Amino acid sequence: MNSLYTGSDAGPPGSPQARPHRLRLLLPLFLTVVALLGGTAQVSLAGAGSRPNIILVVADTLRADHLGTYGYFRPTTPHLDHLATESVLFENAFTVMPHTLPAHLALFTSRYPREMGVLMNGQTYAGQFPTLAQHLQEAGYNTAAFVSSLAVKGKFGLDRGFDIYVDSTHHKPPGTVALTSFRDWLGSRQEQPFFAWIHLMEPHVPYAPPRDLANRFRSDAGLRAWVQRKGIAPAPTWGATIDKIVVTQRKTPARSTPFLNNLNLYDAETLSVDQVIGELMAALKARDLDQDSLIMILSDHGEGLGQHGYYFHGLYLYEEQLQIPLLIRLPGGRHAGRRIAEPVSLLDILPTVSSLLDLKPGDGLRGRNLLPLMAGKQAGEFNRRPLFAESREYPPRRALSPEHWTSVRRFSVRDGSWKLIRATSGEAELYDLAADQNELADLHEENPAVARRLGRVLDKWLAKIPKGEAAGTDNLTDEDRRRLKSLGYVGGQP
Ligand SMILES: [Zn+2]
Repeated sequence: MNSLYTGSDAGPPGSPQARPHRLRLLLPLFLTVVALLGGTAQVSLAGAGSRPNIILVVADTLRADHLGTYGYFRPTTPHLDHLATESVLFENAFTVMPHTLPAHLALFTSRYPREMGVLMNGQTYAGQFPTLAQHLQEAGYNTAAFVSSLAVKGKFGLDRGFDIYVDSTHHKPPGTVALTSFRDWLGSRQEQPFFAWIHLMEPHVPYAPPRDLANRFRSDAGLRAWVQRKGIAPAPTWGATIDKIVVTQRKTPARSTPFLNNLNLYDAETLSVDQVIGELMAALKARDLDQDSLIMILSDHGEGLGQHGYYFHGLYLYEEQLQIPLLIRLPGGRHAGRRIAEPVSLLDILPTVSSLLDLKPGDGLRGRNLLPLMAGKQAGEFNRRPLFAESREYPPRRALSPEHWTSVRRFSVRDGSWKLIRATSGEAELYDLAADQNELADLHEENPAVARRLGRVLDKWLAKIPKGEAAGTDNLTDEDRRRLKSLGYVGGQP
């Protein structure tokens, strides 16, 4: 046991019966120590005699800038917009790799994918670093996962620390199925506190929203203005590529989808996932679990949607790939409505939860505790922290979209308003995000000194975080490979 805990007597299945008694004996001593120190209780719940239930929602491929509360021009997210008023919203949150399994592992371990040796979907995490679920399970939490994507099936190593892991990846619509599983689980007799992770697949290709939402958004003047603002140039192959994915996935006849309508369908998917989140919040409220729980909603990565000539995710490291929405509703609605501009990372989730609960997750976490930032402190430190990312690894000659296939990998560093993207081929791009949020003007040639400085920062990071031994793909079946390919991923050996 890593720490002292207060509150519920519940332990994980099979835990020693003696543990609750030990906790009760230690509680008065712990409260006394906290009172004497007077410090940690300020941002920690451990001294308050309660351990909050924790609900983590990951909406796969959900772009931050397509949410109303992040300024999108369409009403795609009424429920998330409302939840933002009760939460702390991070305006600049980023993933470390725009690829599902590595991004989720980074979220759960606060480690970079490269050090885990997991740089592709289909690999199996060897478990070198304990996950958030493992920490919480050890702390006596009842842990449960409800996922809706093949990429995050438990067998790839994400099930570590979960008492229950429900893969509902063969069913449609995925979010509703995951929600139903979660509600059923919630409705059964549950030991508390619990940690529930709900993974929603909706905004990911295929863009196939429920029938009643499919025509909600049209290719209107607003969309055309958006496309122009983002510097999106229509490419005839995009519609065909997405159609190919839809056809492979659903075995339906090919249809020609104009590229603008793919944005409409993506937004309809976003509306769909927002509805699921609305139902999820209603389910929590019905059981009086909405106010005192810790609720975190984020994405694992973004989506190209035509920016920089690319529709999907994984290959490039532009903002549309890396930026994610992040809402944290603290127990009791603490700091509700606050919006944080400082750049943060999905690596910060584990340190934040650990701090809130006084867990001791060990040294070497790559993220930082966000609680001080949420309380209006340490802004300068977060602004000075460089953020790193890397692209996925491709096995040769296996990509679905040959026009984008490359064995080149990319690394990026964001430092203040500057961002450097460097490829293993030697090419580099430099952007001033303060002046050019959409990364349309490469300033690499004009600012060689800045590019060199960021290059050194990147080199230092690569030296500090060496690439771990590549994880195996033994758990990937032929059927998995076929289905991953149908989702736009390759299914081969790394
Ligand atoms: Zn994903």
